[in-house]
Amino acid sequence: MTHIEQREIVIVGGGMVGSALALALSRRSIPCTVLERAEAPLDLLRGELIQPAGVDILQELGVRDQVAAACLETTGITMQLGAATCDIAYDLCPPPAGSSGTFRPRGLAGWRRPMYEALGRRLAAERSVEIVAPFVARSIERLPDRRLRITSRDGLSPTFEASMVVVADGQASRLARDLGFHASEESERTLVQGFVGRTTENLGTRVRMAIHPLGVAWLFPFPDGFYRSTVQVDVSRLPALRRGDPLACHLTVVREAFPDVWELIGGEHPDVRSPFHTHPGRTAIHAGIVEDGLALAGDAAGCLDPLTGTGLAQGLRDAMSLAGVIADGDWTARALRSYERDRLARLLPKREANEVLTYAFLERDEPFAAALLGRLAARWSDRDRVLPVIAMETAGYPLPMVPSFGLRAHFLGLL
Ligand SMILES: Cc1cc2nc3c(=O)[nH]c(=O)nc-3n(C[C@H](O)[C@H](O)[C@H](O)COP(=O)(O)OP(=O)(O)OC[C@H]3O[C@@H](n4cnc5c(N)ncnc54)[C@H](O)[C@@H]3O)c2cc1C
Repeated sequence: MTHIEQREIVIVGGGMVGSALALALSRRSIPCTVLERAEAPLDLLRGELIQPAGVDILQELGVRDQVAAACLETTGITMQLGAATCDIAYDLCPPPAGSSGTFRPRGLAGWRRPMYEALGRRLAAERSVEIVAPFVARSIERLPDRRLRITSRDGLSPTFEASMVVVADGQASRLARDLGFHASEESERTLVQGFVGRTTENLGTRVRMAIHPLGVAWLFPFPDGFYRSTVQVDVSRLPALRRGDPLACHLTVVREAFPDVWELIGGEHPDVRSPFHTHPGRTAIHAGIVEDGLALAGDAAGCLDPLTGTGLAQGLRDAMSLAGVIADGDWTARALRSYERDRLARLLPKREANEVLTYAFLERDEPFAAALLGRLAARWSDRDRVLPVIAMETAGYPLPMVPSFGLRAHFLGLL
């Protein structure tokens, strides 16, 4: 007979979001239990760049320095838009509302495993956090007394019963689906492919991005002479990619997108240090993410296409927002809805910006695409008016105002 453990708060999934939530609760002296499937973090190709808005939250949680020790600090983004270059320093961002005097507009980039290990070590040192790993949650069911029961897949680990359960098991969350949460909008519009390679020289501290006729290319500088190379294409390119050798195609895009650093990153024979991964770029919007004593967080609660790489910053913000509501002690759906509203209000404008950017950057069949990029570059070089807005957008901070149609059109060069 499986042993049953009683807890107050259980978080299923100890990724960045589940871990940050546990830390945020711990800082409020609220104990919780984290159930995590993996014994050690994996070096998947996702989540290697934490935008400054997310780094700020790590700072607030007191774990920034530990994570930063495994990372390179990024200072901005250099965008190659057609023939023009647009260099955006995060320093242009006005400090976000309510930020402390120690605000530093810097991102963090690096191998995923040491980043997550640093976070995990910090979590393990918290006395009010209990980590149970490996624990693969199979189901969550409601008991007659309204508490929730979490059963493991192996049937050998103890079963947990809790008054408040947070599901933070990532974008493929089967638990969320089984609980009846469904995305009201869902799409797989893009494919992201890439690897981590070794470079012969320092690539600087700017993330590089370039628009190529096949898609968008990215280079993230990593610590210790590594870099992440990513290419994102519209899913309609899949048949063309399948016809050829994906790595050769990837290298062609990178060579044409970044001719200035092509030799530094190994040219035709890069020193590839990770598998060559391909992931779908998914968008999923959930209208409802709470029930009595239950909330979804991070990618399990919906995600945006990774085009602008803000998933971690958004998820970290979820963790802070949800911790605040949980700390109030009322775990009814009614009370948890303030977290749900906060999340949707943050996500919807980002989704809109992402969609317009996906259209502008990836809809390469449009005859006006090249001209549009030229106009974008010209407008984006308006240092005083437009660059601070773009800096905030790329740093993952909420804009201080709701952009009017006119500003958005100006921002995107679509007037
Ligand atoms: C190709 C790609 C590139 C990306 N690049 C970036 C980027 O550069 N920057 C950025 O900010 N975002 C990026 N993202 C988005 C980012 O990866 C996610 O937003 C982020 O990882 C979400 O964190 P999470 O903690 O919600 O989920 P996850 O990171 O997926 O963590 C979920 C955790 O739950 C555990 N788990 C799963 N199922 C169970 C179960 N049944 N029982 C117990 N535990 C379970 C998993 O082992 C895992 O540890 C990218 C996404 C993709 C697809």
